[in-house]
Amino acid sequence: MTTTASAHLMLPLLADPQTYRPNTLDLLDDPVTRDYWIGVFETHLPSLVRHCIRSEAHRPDAHQRAQAFGQKFSEHLALLRHQPDQMGSLNILLICRLREKYLREHRIADPYAPVKADENAAALKLLPDVLAAIDALKPDQQLEALIRGVFAGNKFDLGATSTNQAFDAGGSFSFHDAAVAIGPRPWLIDDFDRLHNRWQDHPHRKAVVFVDNAGADVTLGMIPLIRHMLQRGTQVIITANTHPALNDITHDELGPHLAAVARLDRVVADALADGQLLRIASGNDAPLIDLRQVSVELAKEAADCDLLILEGMGRAVETNLDARFTCDCLKLAMIKEEHLASMLGGKLYDVICRFEPK
Ligand code: MG
Repeated sequence: MTTTASAHLMLPLLADPQTYRPNTLDLLDDPVTRDYWIGVFETHLPSLVRHCIRSEAHRPDAHQRAQAFGQKFSEHLALLRHQPDQMGSLNILLICRLREKYLREHRIADPYAPVKADENAAALKLLPDVLAAIDALKPDQQLEALIRGVFAGNKFDLGATSTNQAFDAGGSFSFHDAAVAIGPRPWLIDDFDRLHNRWQDHPHRKAVVFVDNAGADVTLGMIPLIRHMLQRGTQVIITANTHPALNDITHDELGPHLAAVARLDRVVADALADGQLLRIASGNDAPLIDLRQVSVELAKEAADCDLLILEGMGRAVETNLDARFTCDCLKLAMIKEEHLASMLGGKLYDVICRFEPK
């Protein structure tokens, strides 16, 4: 194991680090796919610029910097259409990092900070009812309800073009509506029976859980699942991005948010107090994740876990759908891009529950 200059380590749970490639799509190879994804970034950009302006509204040059960022990033996307090998290789993760680089260059720290705070606060108000609904179910019905809740929460995503457009159009959908809209099984990838069987065996000892978006996603989708695991006696390491990326919750935001959850729920409060629930920064800076580069702290803490949960399209599908691990792994996501859906043989808003035992 070697430490990189920026103090990252490989996640020690990767089954085959030599062949691990954190990109399902190589955009150099396939011009049609490349054009599609560059188009996705272009379509999303005007909305991102608006969020930049809002997040910097306390500064007089907010509008100017946000527009300058949009212009620079847009120009680079246009360049990549014509010179796709301009950065040596090309994939979605690299373009995400390029976007963040231009944001920082224009001193825009976190465009989604205000909306993430709003969405976290709104979701917290709904959490007690969501937890009560889970608790009211028979024990053998709870896991499916929790997994459906994760899918429903994952639909709330300003980082994906399809759902972002729905929000921008002034549309709103409730968490309950999103949960009802999750189709009947079998899902697009559906290992739920295998997961359920494993669940009925002994509880996992220790889980590392990578979370995705702020708001309903982490609060109403992931927190209830994590709480359920805590109730079963599993130690849970919840890990979020170190640096901002779109509307993903960051490690620093997760601290006060979990404290707010703890004020509403005794299980989470007790687990935080006695170390059964730990929060560790992932070291990541993107909506996707290269598991060869996680924080030193996470790599150390993950070494002895027996369950890994990757949540969200970027982490579970775009970068790691085929990755294999030395412990049980659960990959949960809603597919919010047309191209990815058709590549997987499905359609927009299909869901994935892949469970791979060790
Ligand atoms: Mg996200």
